Amino acid sequence: MATGSNRWRGRLLRGLAAVVFGMLGAAPAWSNPADILLVNGKIVTLDAASSVREALAIEADRITATGSSEELRKSAGPATRIIDLGGRTVIPGLIDSHIHAIRAGFRYATEVNWEGAASIGEALDRLKSADTHAKPEAWLIVAGGWTPRQFDENRRPTEAEIASVASGHPVYIQLFYGYALINAEGRDRLNIKSEADLPVAAKFERDKEDELTGWIVGGGPAITSLYSRLPKPQLQEAIEGTRRFLRELSSFGLTGVIDPGGHNLAPDDYAALFHLWRAQELPLRVVYSIFAPRPGTELEDFQAATQFLPMGTGDGRLRFNGIGECVTWGMYNNDTPTDADKEAFYRVARWAADRGLTLTVHWNNERSVHHLLDVFERINREVPIAPLRWSIAHLSDASDASLQRMRALGVGWLMQDGLYFAATSYIAERGEAQMQRSPPIVSALRLGLPTGGGTDANRVMIENPFVSLRWMLDGLTVDGVETRGAKEIPSREEALRIYTQGSAWFAHDENQRGRLVPGMLADLAVLSDDYFIAPISDIAKIKSQITMVGGQIVYASGPFSSLDAAPR
Ligand SMILES: [Zn+2]
Repeated sequence: MATGSNRWRGRLLRGLAAVVFGMLGAAPAWSNPADILLVNGKIVTLDAASSVREALAIEADRITATGSSEELRKSAGPATRIIDLGGRTVIPGLIDSHIHAIRAGFRYATEVNWEGAASIGEALDRLKSADTHAKPEAWLIVAGGWTPRQFDENRRPTEAEIASVASGHPVYIQLFYGYALINAEGRDRLNIKSEADLPVAAKFERDKEDELTGWIVGGGPAITSLYSRLPKPQLQEAIEGTRRFLRELSSFGLTGVIDPGGHNLAPDDYAALFHLWRAQELPLRVVYSIFAPRPGTELEDFQAATQFLPMGTGDGRLRFNGIGECVTWGMYNNDTPTDADKEAFYRVARWAADRGLTLTVHWNNERSVHHLLDVFERINREVPIAPLRWSIAHLSDASDASLQRMRALGVGWLMQDGLYFAATSYIAERGEAQMQRSPPIVSALRLGLPTGGGTDANRVMIENPFVSLRWMLDGLTVDGVETRGAKEIPSREEALRIYTQGSAWFAHDENQRGRLVPGMLADLAVLSDDYFIAPISDIAKIKSQITMVGGQIVYASGPFSSLDAAPR
């Protein structure tokens, strides 16, 4: 015990020394040799001075020094692993501050993905390949993460096209939260014989000739409840899916996610995630909040769920971060909440404030966000909420006035690239002028609002952070439509800061990660191409070649693939 604590104290002192000397840009002469040295790189530290260094030293899970390759090589010992980066760019590990990663992982091994498919033919090929490999009784499910606008044909596939590639398997295809297609086998399996067998508010779609199109239309709750009739993956499938999805995130240089639960994700669906955490196999830091599981009993459900779960429970790989993004069902996607809805929300949020819980809320529309801000301000008069890091997710059309109210409360803004897919309907609904400032990225920075980057993947958006970064910089949609105006286009560095230290704020971690400076966690990504020099249109193609979390290489590819430690 004494040895352990001395060792720990020694590490702390060395860490402090490293911080001091790190500021001078040199390694302390008496420091232990580094465990890992990255040399001959372009290390984008994102420190206050936007310094770029050549080399970086890591001991245990922390960065101990940055400087020139020559300086840092002097601190190498016989056991130091030296990695020559060949001039490649290193950035702080990316953090998606609003991604449904737990749900995506839970289903990843049993669903088909249409991400990046450029035509219906390509999408159908993926379905056909899944059809060939699936067990006879298995469903073929595409649960979102695509838009007709990514296809050359610019339309949804037809029932006949789906039937042509599914040899007897039941099929379920979902588009956002508005449409679903279930083939004949699937309808049979779910006992859907007529419209009366669909969830309330869902209908069979009819074309101009009044013929059924095969698609089902309905609002969010209707499609969500349809999806909930599908069979769930077995635990082993869920573990495999989670492993694969998180590895996919590692391949994009993501070292952290902040997960807001979601629809169609029950408490016991977290078992796969918890299994991988216990096995020490999580390749990134997962910070999660609890989504209200049922309408009407939100407060009781949150109380029961958190009785033995204080704010911040967990460790560096898995940590509890409060409640949301559904806090109460009455204030979820409701632009006209009643006084009773607001009172119910107040009771839950006030309880969360008293318990010191972080809280995040899904909110889409500026025209109604005053209802939410009124409740926040009421609570803030009773209990200061700024230290709790509450946040509003989405709100792409936020006005300066609302951003200012958030800023005054210390409430942050979680911004995602949903409009990369959905800009056309957004323009139709809100007009070109609003599109020009959606989302108001530069305005938020100008007002000093804590802002996190992310995707909201994987139902409404794909998980690739470089697609999101590119979209922050050019505002182009998946089908090449220009949207956001120049006034709301951040610089490359600003966008990267949002996706790193900006996101870290929402996990209470901005002093632990998000910058590559001595004393901080060694969470970083070595990029396949220079994010700062590549044409903006090529940024979406960038991948990570080494992803490191707490000094551990969790993913490596290309010239570094021999360093890859992942179980294959
Ligand atoms: Zn949301």
